[in-house]
Amino acid sequence: MPCLGIAPFAWLCAIVSSGPVPPAPEPARARMVEEQIAARGVKDPAVLAAMREVPRHLFVRPADLARAYDDHPLSIGHGQTISQPYIVALMTELARPRPGHVALEVGTGSGYQAAVLSRIVERVYTIELLEALATTARRRLADLGYDNVTVRAGDGYNGWPEAAPFDIILVTASAPDIPPPLVQQLKAGGRMIIPIGATGETQELRVVEKKADGSLEIRTVIPVRFVPLLRQP
Ligand code: SAH
Repeated sequence: MPCLGIAPFAWLCAIVSSGPVPPAPEPARARMVEEQIAARGVKDPAVLAAMREVPRHLFVRPADLARAYDDHPLSIGHGQTISQPYIVALMTELARPRPGHVALEVGTGSGYQAAVLSRIVERVYTIELLEALATTARRRLADLGYDNVTVRAGDGYNGWPEAAPFDIILVTASAPDIPPPLVQQLKAGGRMIIPIGATGETQELRVVEKKADGSLEIRTVIPVRFVPLLRQP
């Protein structure tokens, strides 16, 4: 596929190649934020600004350019997906990101969620189990200038001990339960956003807040559907 690997030119590439001509990205993105995200109650101005800024169309496969700003997840290959825009915005808002925060993401995928978070916080560490996806995301984020994001290939269940503790942990794959290493790597006062549940069953998006005394306050936000958090064999 000639368009792969040259993300900045993907737009031109899609126009030159066959397939539907995608809508212009900036108006499509502004509409996405208004109609899918703000309309559903996401209010944090920093989150809305980040969603308006990050070029989602450069994080999807060239064949999906015309659908990059639609209201659903898209395949990124290897059986994985880039999350629906609303879910990315909701998870980011629930994490209460602030400048100066250090964040961990488990499940880099395309790198899109990491890029959105990186517009608000100081640094994002993101772990992807599948080497091929980690490599593509690392290159894409570097090409696009997201230099406060560090990508590593590995099993995110174990977190990233050398970079811990984290103000924020976002898990973008569904786990059967909350991984203890991630709880350990969360700062007091920090928040973890994690979908809990098996594939095919109802999964729930949970907010896990670590109190000053180390205890956890957990609440369920909405039912969701994520790919499973896998374990390194
Ligand atoms: N946040 C991504 C979408 C995530 S899809 C984006 O913005 O595009 C979930 C990702 O989690 C997949 O890429 C999958 O390979 C990865 N994953 C699954 N189990 C994992 C694990 N144990 N550690 C790290 N990544 C994992």
